Amino acid sequence: MPKPNLISRRGLIRAAAATTALLACPAIAKAKPRVVVVGGGAGGATAAKYLRHGDDAVEVTLVEANRVYVTPFTSNLFLGGLKSFETLSFGYEAIAARGVGMVFDSVTAIDRDARQVRTAGGARLAYDRLVLSPGIDFRWDAVPGYSEAAAELMPHAYRGGAQFKLLKSRLDALSDGALIVIIAPPNPYRCPPAPYERASMMAYALKSRGVKNARIVILDAKDHFAMQTLFIDGWERHYTGMIEWQDPTIHGGIKAVDPKAMTVTTDFETHKASLVNVIPPQIAGRLGRDAGLADDSGFCPVYAETMTSRIDPLIQVIGDSAVGGEFPKSGFAANNEAKAAAMILRAELLGERRMPVRFTNHCWSGIAPDDAVKNGARYAPQDGKIVASDPYTSQLDETPQLRAKQAREAAGWYAGMTTDIFG
Ligand SMILES: Cc1cc2nc3c(=O)[nH]c(=O)nc-3n(C[C@H](O)[C@H](O)[C@H](O)COP(=O)(O)OP(=O)(O)OC[C@H]3O[C@@H](n4cnc5c(N)ncnc54)[C@H](O)[C@@H]3O)c2cc1C
Repeated sequence: MPKPNLISRRGLIRAAAATTALLACPAIAKAKPRVVVVGGGAGGATAAKYLRHGDDAVEVTLVEANRVYVTPFTSNLFLGGLKSFETLSFGYEAIAARGVGMVFDSVTAIDRDARQVRTAGGARLAYDRLVLSPGIDFRWDAVPGYSEAAAELMPHAYRGGAQFKLLKSRLDALSDGALIVIIAPPNPYRCPPAPYERASMMAYALKSRGVKNARIVILDAKDHFAMQTLFIDGWERHYTGMIEWQDPTIHGGIKAVDPKAMTVTTDFETHKASLVNVIPPQIAGRLGRDAGLADDSGFCPVYAETMTSRIDPLIQVIGDSAVGGEFPKSGFAANNEAKAAAMILRAELLGERRMPVRFTNHCWSGIAPDDAVKNGARYAPQDGKIVASDPYTSQLDETPQLRAKQAREAAGWYAGMTTDIFG
């Protein structure tokens, strides 16, 4: 396995050869540099769009497995019945209209020596630079009894639109006395407050349908979670007695799930549930790992100043697959990282001016329709790693007016973010 903190000798030779070819050969120097972007989600779609921003100096191809992207962000509001599935769904027409070449296919391999990506449909796409944003994969075997096939019975609903629909249809079918078990993952994982916003929105959906005596038990791998006091306070106010959170000292560890029997066994007891939402531990999308771009953490290490892989200088990894310090794994961050990566690439390939890389991240979570909390921070590279500063979080004593304003802010953020990515 290549050493994560070093650019490999082979990579340096390739980078030097690519740069020499671009600069020394007049015929190639005039050709447009070819950038292939893999993954058309929050990170990849933004990168493709911003690489083509304003001109056609770079030939950009975006390879995405699906024709429609369903945003994981705000999918919890869909569970709560506050948004329709259609409003979470986006196509690539506007990105294609900017001159990005769209290839709807699954990338099966990256040939780093040949500088090509291969697709399931048999295409080989050559690149001068590659931007990877394939999102997350799961450690399927980390929860005994769980598997990719079991996700049809116990949905994770953490990736891909069909899973969000499946979880909602199961939620909508519940009746009086239902027990939901949510298995919450260890760090790091995408959107730290999302499992707890999900519990809130599930409780809201059940309460607003008049389902009686329903309970939600969260079995957590962590001993604390993002905005914990705010969520627990909100659960007591809106859904008294409905949501119970257990840390590992209470449940003692998940021993097994049985998707057919719909049971979850912990060290302490066996829950016979009406619905189980397993959110497994997470790692980088398979593509980056198979290409040898990941380290022992399961994620792909990058230099924070450029989002360039620490293993291959011709590849930038952005979004949830990347690790490079205190990056949050969020759509907001993926969008920021993508713009930085596009700016850096244009600077390197076209000699454009580059600005220092700076990120922000704000994350809103709905506890009830007019009760949203938020946290966030600024981020900047320091000694090759992203470091957070000026963190803030909502306070317990906020007025109902402020909470309602934050819920409107979240809706405004979503509209702005999706326009920035797909508009
Ligand atoms: C329930 C939930 C709530 C969330 N709420 C928020 C929030 O409020 N705010 C926020 O900022 N973030 C939120 N997030 C996190 C956010 O969705 C992710 O951090 C973000 O989508 C990461 O972007 P990405 O580009 O890394 O991956 P993704 O957006 O997942 O995109 C990856 C894309 O790559 C494609 N792909 C993968 N492999 C291949 C392949 N081999 N070939 C071709 N295409 C491929 C996939 O089809 C997908 O379209 C939430 C997530 C969840 C699950």
